[in-house]
Amino acid sequence: MIKNGKLIIVSGFAGSGKGTVLKELFNMAEYKYSVSATTREPRVGETDGVDYYFMTREDFLVKTESGDMLEYVEYSGNFYGTPREPVEKMLSDGYSVILEIEVEGALNIKANFPEAVLIFISPPTYAELERRLRERASESEEMIKERLEISKRESASIGEYGYLVVNETSEQKKTAFAVHCIAESEKYKNISGKDLPREQALIIKTAGENKIDAKKAEKFLKNYYK
Ligand code: 5GP
Repeated sequence: MIKNGKLIIVSGFAGSGKGTVLKELFNMAEYKYSVSATTREPRVGETDGVDYYFMTREDFLVKTESGDMLEYVEYSGNFYGTPREPVEKMLSDGYSVILEIEVEGALNIKANFPEAVLIFISPPTYAELERRLRERASESEEMIKERLEISKRESASIGEYGYLVVNETSEQKKTAFAVHCIAESEKYKNISGKDLPREQALIIKTAGENKIDAKKAEKFLKNYYK
């Protein structure tokens, strides 16, 4: 196995649908997810250790002081952070690791790990964003307004991202596939073709022609090597 896992940062406004997109992505290929720590209350249906590590402010601050967080921010009145050790381990095992984090944390990661791939997922319009937030109905009106304000501020940083992917309504699978193609092409672009087994070499070729279709390439190879 080639050890060239990528650190992939996915951000998007609250209500962008990035959660569903990531679920589709995990069905599509082998990615590892970095479970964040947070001091916010769990929402209905969220599980400790799966969606987040839910912790008190005191415990969170102990972790930041001991350097156990790769990055952290205070967002909407709560702390959110990426535990360092699991991410470093998954990367050194050769996996691509997905961090689903907000803009400030993403830019901190970019400053420390310039090779990280930053992908921003956006709904097609602001009106659609507002509609999705209200539909979710897991937050108060005040919280929804705050999240919309934050999204306006965050949109100023989209230019810092490597990729912007529009998540059209009801097209989460397509969006996930776009993210997968970006991750695949980034994974192989710094490796010379001759170092690769033929499976990967084919993917490089399709990416080089600007027709990234990793899934088709994988399907082709499955038949080819039968
Ligand atoms: P939510 O409360 O809706 O789950 O998350 C609020 C925001 O925090 C989202 O934009 C999410 O991407 C971001 N977030 C979640 N975990 C982390 C983290 O570990 N670090 C940073 N910087 N942001 C995070």
